[in-house]
Amino acid sequence: MRSLFHNEQSHIRSITKFLLDGFFPIRCIGCGVYDEWICAHCHTRLPLITEQDCPLCKKHATKNGEKCFSCGFDNNGFDSVFVVSHYHDPIIKTALHYFKYRFVKELAHPLALLCAQALQHSHIPIPDMIIPVPLHSRRLRWRGFNQSEILAHALDLRIPVITDILVRVRYTKPQVRTKSKNERTENLRDAFDVTPHTNINGKDILLIDDIMTTGTTLHECATKLKCAGARKVHCLVLARE
Ligand SMILES: [Zn+2]
Ligand SMILES: [Zn+2]
Repeated sequence: MRSLFHNEQSHIRSITKFLLDGFFPIRCIGCGVYDEWICAHCHTRLPLITEQDCPLCKKHATKNGEKCFSCGFDNNGFDSVFVVSHYHDPIIKTALHYFKYRFVKELAHPLALLCAQALQHSHIPIPDMIIPVPLHSRRLRWRGFNQSEILAHALDLRIPVITDILVRVRYTKPQVRTKSKNERTENLRDAFDVTPHTNINGKDILLIDDIMTTGTTLHECATKLKCAGARKVHCLVLARE
């Protein structure tokens, strides 16, 4: 019964993708040239954020998106959030939407290239491992892939990408549909867990997600990883909504 449901979902996804590809052939999101989602010329126009700020108060500039002095003297949650580009840039916004909701996996490559360019200018310490923010199995079946995971692999940093440590154990509604900070925190309470597959004691982790909305997801993931012994959790996101 379960596998039937799974097949049905992937079947519907394939049909949706087939129809979308038929109506919307591959064209550059920036200039419309055929056969590429982001052409080389438009890629050079994508903005990189050069000045990071505190992910909690957004008021103080910090080198790599670390928490500022007023916000972050404790070791809880993440240590920093490095934001690659601007969410409201028209190409970035459309690319992220296509990547996530039109199942355009191929966008992982130009977007990962942008992340790699941004990382070259950062001073984030080299992590022991990369962990993508996981999807719940139900959402994974619907989308067919975890966009953060393929982004992490496409980065190709020669640092292990580990996907069996952090798991999403509770299905939650998307954070963008929550209205208040309390609801967001409540929505994600105990949504993640850490499995004992790999020892992360004393390890430095780079946590990757596509979009940061309020930071609650990253905070929850980082908190679980730190409870399991991680030393530092730095985050990398393509854009902050
Ligand atoms: Zn173009
Ligand atoms: Zn702050």
